[in-house]
Amino acid sequence: MHCDSRSRAQSKRWMDLGLTNRLLSARLFCALFVLLAATASASAQPKQPKVLMIGIDGCRFDAILYSQAKLLKKVINEGGHTDKCDVLDNIPTKADTASGAGWATILTGLWADRHNVLGNDFKDSRLHECPSVLHLANKVKPKLECIALVTWPDIQEHICKGHKGCRMVFDGDKKGYKEGDRVMTEVALDVLKTKNPDLLFLYFGHLDSVGHGYGFHPKSPRYTNGIEDIDDHLIRIFKALDARPKRAGEDWLVMFFTDHGGQGRGHGGGRTVPEIRTGFLIVHGEAAVKGKIADKVTNADIVPTALTHLGIAIDPAWRLEGRAVGLKKRDR
Ligand SMILES: [Zn+2]
Repeated sequence: MHCDSRSRAQSKRWMDLGLTNRLLSARLFCALFVLLAATASASAQPKQPKVLMIGIDGCRFDAILYSQAKLLKKVINEGGHTDKCDVLDNIPTKADTASGAGWATILTGLWADRHNVLGNDFKDSRLHECPSVLHLANKVKPKLECIALVTWPDIQEHICKGHKGCRMVFDGDKKGYKEGDRVMTEVALDVLKTKNPDLLFLYFGHLDSVGHGYGFHPKSPRYTNGIEDIDDHLIRIFKALDARPKRAGEDWLVMFFTDHGGQGRGHGGGRTVPEIRTGFLIVHGEAAVKGKIADKVTNADIVPTALTHLGIAIDPAWRLEGRAVGLKKRDR
């Protein structure tokens, strides 16, 4: 009996212990569930879309491939690209293959039939009717931080005119574009470190000066060296991008493009010269479709692509003349 009562007591203790264990397990399970749910909700948080637009004046794609540029070749391999980006429209305009007409289209998404910048003369332009990509982004999302860092005065004075984020950081016309590219890069590094840009446009102007001086050609060593100089700046810019404290929660689309190519020591009158009229577009980042972009691409597609990635629906009232290219479906 004594033994029986002790064994009963013991078995009750085991039962109590079992109950306690089950309760503990249930609590543990609940805690684990809450933790997993929290993690899942954190990872379900959409990343912040951001766009870095890198404009290289007078850059030929075949010369990038012929150069020793490391970063540019890496983004070509990792992202999407086309080496057949038309810098002029198919509708008849009198626009030349010149920087003024080129950057006006790149930054407004409109051809010369709308902005009427035909060369480097902005005298009769209708840019006051053609908001820049910075203006359009802020019109829809006023809180977005849109910044353009430029060294060619005409971009600030005419194309991005009136946008507080468009900053002339150095006068390349007066003091040279080699130093301009260097100073602009330093400012870009500071912006990426200390500010929270959503749309950032960087203008590199030196390569065009090199082309005018020594020839726009893959086999012009000064020209390919000019591309490698820009590549060194880009390596630092990409490091700064990756060092951003909230980088893991940011979805950067980085775009690379040019306003025209070149032949000999010039690029004017290039409507029928493929080496001049053909630019390129590279898109890099999680949102970019890898590989060659099969669609026909023009420089008017740059603005819609940037806006689309930022989650801004293209308003038909803007009558933009291109469309988003090279992006995964989720971004469209
Ligand atoms: Zn140019």
